[in-house]
Amino acid sequence: MSLAERLADAQQRISAAAASANREPGAIQLIVVTKNHPTQLVFDLLDLGVRDFGENRDQEASPKAVEVRSVTKIEHRWHFIGQLQSNKVKSVISYASSIHSLDRQSLLDALGKATTEREQPLDVFIQLNLTDDPGRGGIQPVDLLPFAESVLAHPGLRLVGVMGVASLDNELERDFSAIQKASESIRTVAPDAQLISAGMSEDFETAIAYGATHLRIGSAITGKRQY
Ligand SMILES: *Cc1c(COP(=O)(O)O)cnc(C)c1O
Repeated sequence: MSLAERLADAQQRISAAAASANREPGAIQLIVVTKNHPTQLVFDLLDLGVRDFGENRDQEASPKAVEVRSVTKIEHRWHFIGQLQSNKVKSVISYASSIHSLDRQSLLDALGKATTEREQPLDVFIQLNLTDDPGRGGIQPVDLLPFAESVLAHPGLRLVGVMGVASLDNELERDFSAIQKASESIRTVAPDAQLISAGMSEDFETAIAYGATHLRIGSAITGKRQY
């Protein structure tokens, strides 16, 4: 399949999954994850109508974002979806319109500080830790509400929702239902934080059934990563 065919196939599967979940396909945002692919892929996807791109490492994303912005006049957005080191915050917020991976207090402190002067607040999703292992990245559900309240205290940040990655043991329904519950819970303190960033190539249809609003799809559309 060509890139155009894989994109069309994913879009068609998103619409079908939305229909079976009785949801508006228009309420589901596709983010194509372009990590480990050359910048040309981004140009090809722009030609095919994609406007939202995901990257997980600043070293790769920053030069890509600069190159794309210098060449095209088409409006587009970068979503930062990977673990973010505090010393990369300044760089990432210069091109990303949203951070899906706010996963710890020290990163919140760095983001809050770096965004105090912003005119447009930066969109952030709180990344959940769906395992019992506090050593894994992310905020555990028991800590979610106090953490959300500390995000709300930063005027340069707009808390838009929660993000999760299904764990590797293939208990998709358990994981996506935990994300959906966390989303309901966060809205008790942050009514505007309605988005759910969940679902990747292998599991996005299940994620849609559990309310995902932002899908982060890579290889199913882009093909195998090249480096
Ligand atoms: C790479 C990545 C994706 C996309 O993964 P695919 O399996 O290629 O769809 C989604 N989310 C995060 C956080 C990632 O790092």
